[in-house]
Amino acid sequence: MKHDSVFDMALEQLETTAKRIKLNPDIHRVLQSCEKELTVACPVVMNDGRIEVFEGYRVQHSSARGPCKGGIRFHESVTVDEMKALAMWMTWKCAVVNIPFGGAKGGVRVDVTKLEKDEIRRLTRRFTVNIMPIIGPRHDIPAPDVNTNAETMGWIMDTVSMYQGATVLDIVTGKSTDLGGSLGRREATGRGVMLSTLELLKRLHIEPENVTAAIQGFGNVGSVGADLLHKEGCRIIAVSDVTGGYYNSNGLPIRHMIEHAKTTKFHTLDGFTAPGVSKISNEELLQLDVDILVPAAMEKQITDKNADKVKAKAVIEGANGPTTPEAGRILHKKGITVVPDILANSGGVVVSYFEWVQSIQSFFWDVEAVNKNLKRVLVKAFADVWDLATREKLTMRDAATQIAVQRVAMAMEERGIFP
Ligand code: NAD
Repeated sequence: MKHDSVFDMALEQLETTAKRIKLNPDIHRVLQSCEKELTVACPVVMNDGRIEVFEGYRVQHSSARGPCKGGIRFHESVTVDEMKALAMWMTWKCAVVNIPFGGAKGGVRVDVTKLEKDEIRRLTRRFTVNIMPIIGPRHDIPAPDVNTNAETMGWIMDTVSMYQGATVLDIVTGKSTDLGGSLGRREATGRGVMLSTLELLKRLHIEPENVTAAIQGFGNVGSVGADLLHKEGCRIIAVSDVTGGYYNSNGLPIRHMIEHAKTTKFHTLDGFTAPGVSKISNEELLQLDVDILVPAAMEKQITDKNADKVKAKAVIEGANGPTTPEAGRILHKKGITVVPDILANSGGVVVSYFEWVQSIQSFFWDVEAVNKNLKRVLVKAFADVWDLATREKLTMRDAATQIAVQRVAMAMEERGIFP
């Protein structure tokens, strides 16, 4: 089955799992829908005096295991269909790492490169007010995603706080540490990508020093993932972002590239040059002969059109939904291990959970405690998924989804359907 809709892709994954584990059809039916979908229009007075209206969404898939949790994305491709898929994947992600959250996602359809910073701030504040009826520290807690960051979370926190008349720290995660954010949160998703890669390498009996890697996307997830894998000894031979790919078979100067991105308007690698570095296309990056490929940009990057050309030994999904189901089957046939998004990029939501706990208690951990607990949670989740996959001869995605769906289904059975 071909998927134009990302939500159809998510539904197919659920269906495959439901059939295999003989999921109660009533529970399956409930899980096929999202609990809440809110569409909002956000009028913004632009700097030239015009009013532009941006459409935004907040979708909650399931709160069976706890308050909903999920990022906010600002991107020109945002649709309600995409938000529904991402919200469902958040439900599975929180369940597979066994933290007490359900899944949500939100976003605004906007090309942020066309807006000035104060316009983005006004948009964020208006969007926040529009989704305030359904978010809240006990209901749904947003976090950063594509084109949003700690600053955006600070604006959301401040907007909600102004309405409440008191500072509400636990309304968002991914805040700056000056505003009650957690140490280690900014790096957490990339750290999770690194930890998942090391767990896989251990099981494949490969030393990180002998590993080459290519990373698509050089934002929060990709750049930190690249940096930490590099520090573990892996040779990062290619990275890319919206400005294209950068390649050096001897390894790229990742720290230097991170510093360069900080100096450009949209934190891209635009204009980066260094001896031995050549430009390649994003498509070429995906087809490089490397040990590890980390898609860390957007959905549907590895499809039935290019999966056959992927030469990596393993794909570690830093992004959400970068591999279509058809592509997943092709990679599986080729013997390529895929560490699925709901496991590989779960570091962010795990530390978001730690941040929420710290915000509620107004008691803050040192970074060693954050990283140690993150590693404990991820190593356990990886082992659960790997062991089930090995025992039942499943792909890691099928095993991870199975664990997650079973946990959510269990919570739903125990709670029962209201009233
Ligand atoms: P970001 O905005 O910080 O970075 C996105 C990067 O992808 C940028 O470097 C951008 O230039 C690049 N990019 C966009 N389109 C591209 C394309 N077609 N080809 C190559 N590069 C492209 O976003 P992020 O937070 O790093 O998120 C990246 C992915 O990781 C998303 O799928 C997101 O949902 C997922 N994710 C993020 C987090 C988090 O904590 N930030 C957590 C879990 C999953």
